[in-house]
Amino acid sequence: MAHVKLHIPGPVEVSPQTYAALCRPMIGHRGQGFKDLYARIQPQLQTLLGTRQKVYLSTSSAWGVMEGALRNLTSRKVLNCMCGAFSDKWFDVAQRCGKEAEALQVPWGSAIRADAIAERLATGQFDALTLIHNETSTGTMSPVAEIAALKARFPDVMFIVDAVSSMTAVPLEFDALGIDVLLAGTQKAFALPPGLAVFVASPAALAKAATAKDRGYYFDFVEFEKNAKDNMTPSTPSIPHIYALSSKLDEFFAEGLPARYARHQETNRMLRDWGTRHGFTLFPDAGFESLTLCCFNNGAKAGAGRTVDAAKLQKLVKDQGFLIDGGYGKIKGTTFRISNMGDETPSTMAPLIAALDAAMKQL
Ligand SMILES: *Cc1c(COP(=O)(O)O)cnc(C)c1O
Repeated sequence: MAHVKLHIPGPVEVSPQTYAALCRPMIGHRGQGFKDLYARIQPQLQTLLGTRQKVYLSTSSAWGVMEGALRNLTSRKVLNCMCGAFSDKWFDVAQRCGKEAEALQVPWGSAIRADAIAERLATGQFDALTLIHNETSTGTMSPVAEIAALKARFPDVMFIVDAVSSMTAVPLEFDALGIDVLLAGTQKAFALPPGLAVFVASPAALAKAATAKDRGYYFDFVEFEKNAKDNMTPSTPSIPHIYALSSKLDEFFAEGLPARYARHQETNRMLRDWGTRHGFTLFPDAGFESLTLCCFNNGAKAGAGRTVDAAKLQKLVKDQGFLIDGGYGKIKGTTFRISNMGDETPSTMAPLIAALDAAMKQL
């Protein structure tokens, strides 16, 4: 069957070069070859994330680390900042982990703002908060720097930030932000296959984790730190993913991070311009639009631009070899999403835009 190129907001298209890197011969995860591989990518990951802390590799999807962060860092109560399907789910996951949790819910499409968080943290009930930088279900970016600045006022609260669909596409400087955990799965903006997550934890987070009694083993931050000192992971990692990550990091630095960030802005602009040309408005509030995907209103909501059947649009585009998303969660049917994450360039986006244009002629 012919491959349909992925323009859904994760997993995204994986390049032949990355697949080739995955296929290098297997090595043992306690041997020198693995330690050398691990040691080689550490400085690149640290530069990428603006940190002097060790960057950990978790063989799991992002949710493993998202759940793990709660188990390691919440002892009293967590404030879950919620503005879409993934951030809403974190509240549910906190409760499933037996944690006291409170929802700070804003309407889908709105961003999380520092003032609202400060008001809740000022009650003194919380020792952790969860935030999703780029809420992928709604295409909304919350102002992470504005929120991270609250850390100065609430130093004992652990700030846990999911950057699953923004890490590597926009600058995120962990040490400068002063937050406690920053995490991502690699099947989104890294453009690796699903199955690996990367994360970094502050010294305060590691100290707090060491006091958590029920943090388990697989996602124990203390184990990650202990093993990282020897350039290893706690359990057998997906070594093919780490080969592929190494290859990807070499690509990032060959391109240059500023060029990479600029490229994502440019490819995102191409999608927004396409939407504007066809009368579509963006779902997120103005000023908080994602740079790694566009979540468009299909117009089914009264007054929200042109109306098309998102499922039909998706089908017409798929017939031309591209997969876009027909909306997620409770906004399925009223929105559709198109990703520009990963390796996409203006020239690889052009055929997608042409296919979208052609599909619109048939609607
Ligand atoms: C995709 C996504 C997740 C979930 O990642 P998994 O790899 O499926 O665990 C979490 N948060 C955000 C923002 C995402 O986009």
